[in-house]
Amino acid sequence: MSETKHTKLLIIGSGPAGYTAGVYGSRAMLEPVLVQGIQPGGQLTITTEVENWPSRKEVQGPDLMSEMEDHAREAGTEIIADHISDLDLSKRPFTAKGETGTTYIADSVVLATGAQAKWLGMPSEEKFKGFGVSACATCDGFFYRGQEIVVIGGGNSAVEEALFLTNFASKVTLIHRRGELRAEKILQNRLLNHEKIVPLWFHELEEVYGSDQPLGVEGVKVKHVETGEITDIPCKGVFVAIGHAPSNELVKDTLETHMGGYVVTKPDSTATSIPGVFAAGDITDYKYRQAITSAGMGCMAALEAEHFLAEQE
Ligand code: FAD
Ligand code: NAP
Repeated sequence: MSETKHTKLLIIGSGPAGYTAGVYGSRAMLEPVLVQGIQPGGQLTITTEVENWPSRKEVQGPDLMSEMEDHAREAGTEIIADHISDLDLSKRPFTAKGETGTTYIADSVVLATGAQAKWLGMPSEEKFKGFGVSACATCDGFFYRGQEIVVIGGGNSAVEEALFLTNFASKVTLIHRRGELRAEKILQNRLLNHEKIVPLWFHELEEVYGSDQPLGVEGVKVKHVETGEITDIPCKGVFVAIGHAPSNELVKDTLETHMGGYVVTKPDSTATSIPGVFAAGDITDYKYRQAITSAGMGCMAALEAEHFLAEQE
């Protein structure tokens, strides 16, 4: 049966940004409604150890997100298992439609729908995901101390990942499908002058191979894009850095975006191009994409929503 639910603050997304917005929104007495989406708990539910959440030297991603959910609920957030399929921001109050049939009428919205790493989509990549294949150097680089690794991509993310990984790896091979990088010049210079990094131009990943027991990467086969020649590169880690896609489907035609679809927010703020709509976490963050930065923005968004609503009254 379809239901209509009115709320002062609708939070869309249940990652660190969404749950933190829930905690702060509840404490501001906004009685927020949080819609979890198809990935309750967000990206951290697909990882194992998280080692950079302050106060927790090591915590499993799903456990951390479950604790955040409890915290938001106990603070007073109504948490709903639903996925928003349509968001009308053309007039206030805003209207969101859930796949369960519920319509949400909201005086303000925190958009916290996150981002997803892009993958190459090959079976061997899928097989070793989490067992040598990663899309997050900050998260997993530490596990490759003294090892040889490869990074795929030629944009800012790939170059930053490669540079960061030199803190751990003995050698980083950057595999790029063209002969020049898309990354900013300053990053390119750092990469090309780094003694631990070897670029391999005009090559694409053909296959990741490794052992089955225990599951682990032992190398990659790469193909020259023009000659088709296959080269074997032994390595223990493969970092795919071919871009992140912000989950902006709900707002890509209504909110201002930049840098490949990330929602634009005002300087030092989570305010978007529509008053009353705030964006927090990876949906707006093309640069850091961390749990802690997302949580910080979730806090900002809820506080800014509170100020916005107070001004309206
Ligand atoms: P996300 O966590 O991306 O969550 C987005 C939420 O939005 C999801 O709950 C989803 O269901 C919901 N959603 C999307 N669309 C809709 C919709 N239409 N309706 C309703 N809900 C919707 N960061 C670290 O700091 N440390 C780490 O160790 C670390 N490890 C990582 C490991 C992996 C494998 C990955 C992929 C990322 C890792 N990160 C890590 C990055 C971190 O997970 C993200 O920066 C963080 O989760 C972003 O939080 P977020 O709240 O913006 O969104
Ligand atoms: P990006 O700029 O889109 O670069 C993606 C890279 O991956 C490109 O070099 C691309 O190759 C390559 N690639 C894409 N699909 C591929 C495939 N199927 N096979 C092989 N290679 C593939 O993505 P990004 O680096 O994540 O950056 C996204 C946005 O965030 C950019 O606007 C970027 O400037 C910004 N960003 C900024 C910072 C910063 O300011 N410090 C840091 C990170 C990201 P081609 O070059 O051949 O297309």
